[in-house]
Amino acid sequence: VQRLSTRNVKIKSSCNCKIVIGEGLFFAKKGKIPRLLHSLLDRKPSSFVIITDTSVRKLYGTRVLRELSRIAETHLIAIPPGERSKTMEMCMKVLADLAKFGIDRDGVLILLGGGVVGDLGGFVASIYKRGVRYIQVPTTLLAQIDSSIGGKTGVDAKWGKNQIGIINQPEGVLIDPAFLRTLPHKEILNGIGEMVKYGVISDAKLFGELEKADIHSYSDLTKFIEPCARIKARIVSEDPGEENLRSILNYGHTLGHALEAAANYSISHGIAILYGMLSEGWIAQKLGFFPTKDVQRQQALINKFLTRDDLASVLRVRLEKIAHYALTDKKNVSGKMMMSLPQKIGKMHQTKEGDFKTSIPFNLLKPSIVYANRALIGSLS
Ligand code: ADP
Ligand code: ZN
Repeated sequence: VQRLSTRNVKIKSSCNCKIVIGEGLFFAKKGKIPRLLHSLLDRKPSSFVIITDTSVRKLYGTRVLRELSRIAETHLIAIPPGERSKTMEMCMKVLADLAKFGIDRDGVLILLGGGVVGDLGGFVASIYKRGVRYIQVPTTLLAQIDSSIGGKTGVDAKWGKNQIGIINQPEGVLIDPAFLRTLPHKEILNGIGEMVKYGVISDAKLFGELEKADIHSYSDLTKFIEPCARIKARIVSEDPGEENLRSILNYGHTLGHALEAAANYSISHGIAILYGMLSEGWIAQKLGFFPTKDVQRQQALINKFLTRDDLASVLRVRLEKIAHYALTDKKNVSGKMMMSLPQKIGKMHQTKEGDFKTSIPFNLLKPSIVYANRALIGSLS
């Protein structure tokens, strides 16, 4: 891995969780990690346990183990990679391993990996001996700009994704963009959906830079991590309990989740969210909030990121199935769907009462899916 700048950026957020971004943090010759950990942990750790998956262990396990061992006795637990590990059963296995290692309440869990490791590990940290401290070390783009920030932890249940869990903030989030050098392009795209989302919901300048960016270029891509992490941290710390503002993070997610469910989760979250923003952006336009020129700009940017294969996999999913899942979304109340929608690129719509959530008539749903499909077909020709 080539060394670039090692300037650290600290993001303050009122949820008293510190976010540090530094290119090459984990790769620097003179370990920066011990010093950083001392500054994040006010009570000395009795031991560390790295929780990771087997693929990330192969790539970075030894290196991170060596860094942490300079401070305290360190163990490592690796789960199989992928969403299928995000279960109560896996959680029980990890808890049993912690007990076997004799980890006490001053032990600190280091969650090294993508969203799966972060969600499951955060949940384990929240319930092991009624809670131990943990630190997020996200290694995927999606985790670095989204899931590692905000303290949402949990696992999937038979009756739905993320149905068991708790909000509990980590002591800190250490983001090293250098981890992304080994991340497959498919996984990079998984984070791009949220990047576009941050542009639309809160930062027109970021949106404009994404229009010019080449996502195959490492430096183009990684320069967006800091602004995106900042947006997420600001929104979450202003409204940790999702009473109003935090709901803008759900833009594109009603239709996006519906598409994922209708495709039996064979379509990645990033692609689903891009699709969801196409439909929800159209709904915003129909309701008279979102100007046509912004709808078109959003469509052009989304199309820039989708490959022909992505388009084909989305277009194979039946419209009725997507509509069915959107209609049964848990955010719906008494005959209305609730969504946060854009007013223009960089700003979300608010009702007269100041609510970011607007009720959507059900009859706009199917036409919005038809619009999104047409937008995709249009980009194929
Ligand atoms: P997400 O962060 O998108 O929720 P996961 O936690 O499922 O995703 O991780 C996606 C996949 O990427 C997993 O197979 C994981 O092992 C792998 N992975 C995570 N970080 C890296 C990395 N830095 N380099 C290569 N592969 C990685
Ligand atoms: Zn998302």
